[in-house]
Amino acid sequence: METLTTLAALVERVRAWRAEGLTIGFVPTMGFLHAGHASLMALARPRCDRLVVSIFVNPLQFGPNEDLSRYPRDLAGDERLCASEGVDLVFAPTDFYPPGRATTVSVAGLTEGLCGAARPGHFDGVTTVVARLFGVVQPQLAVFGEKDFQQLAVIRRMTTDLGLPVEIIGGPLIRDPDGLAMSSRNTYLSPAERGRALSLSAGLRAVVAAAASGERDVAALRAAGLSALDVDRLDYFEIVDPDHLRPLTTLDRPARALVAGWIGRTRLIDNMAVPWI
Ligand code: AMP
Repeated sequence: METLTTLAALVERVRAWRAEGLTIGFVPTMGFLHAGHASLMALARPRCDRLVVSIFVNPLQFGPNEDLSRYPRDLAGDERLCASEGVDLVFAPTDFYPPGRATTVSVAGLTEGLCGAARPGHFDGVTTVVARLFGVVQPQLAVFGEKDFQQLAVIRRMTTDLGLPVEIIGGPLIRDPDGLAMSSRNTYLSPAERGRALSLSAGLRAVVAAAASGERDVAALRAAGLSALDVDRLDYFEIVDPDHLRPLTTLDRPARALVAGWIGRTRLIDNMAVPWI
């Protein structure tokens, strides 16, 4: 495994691989990697000849008062995890955008609710960096986690709309044994906060349990979830159509419950499939 930090070196390596006819798989990340990221690498590994992981804390997707400056970093630890997952190349640029960058990639509709409403401009930052990463890495396939369920839908839309020749694969959300969705941001949590953070997955499980016992009224399902939450501020708790991400009023199809809330200074997200039987 090698780590490259410049665009020129990456472009040269990708050109050589493509000249040999090798297929490239790609997992974009912001680093401080955990088992959730590793699961995406494990999904990609058997599907490609060369596996690239990018580690770049993308300033474009952070709002002015968000945690860009304190986002956790550990390149040496990330390299160990990548090596153990059979990654060929870690691309860890310090600087990724060209001088004078004047292009923003923006997906309408899907980005308006949920995290898009709570974090204005966030998804433009995500789609702009992912489009540019796709341009330089030239992968045939890329894996994204369902942890960021809305992001996955937005990336699929962008890839289709721009006609990018990249197969998008979604990987399941990986949790700690106690149910907490794995996240690089969990490192911000004190032990007491971590205990309260469990209420996010508890709220989602309450929705799933109520649906399993036959509740079809989404207001009632939502109330069941909300009653389990112990957050300092709630950004949203919604039960939506999993394709269009539009809130439902009746559970008349398989749905997705999504939550975003603050525990102290830490914003956490989680989601779960709500089966419809
Ligand atoms: P991040 O480093 O947080 O930008 O995440 C990089 C990729 O890893 C995204 O596609 C995330 O959805 C995915 N990811 C992060 N946490 C998890 C998790 N707990 N389970 C599965 N995928 C995850």
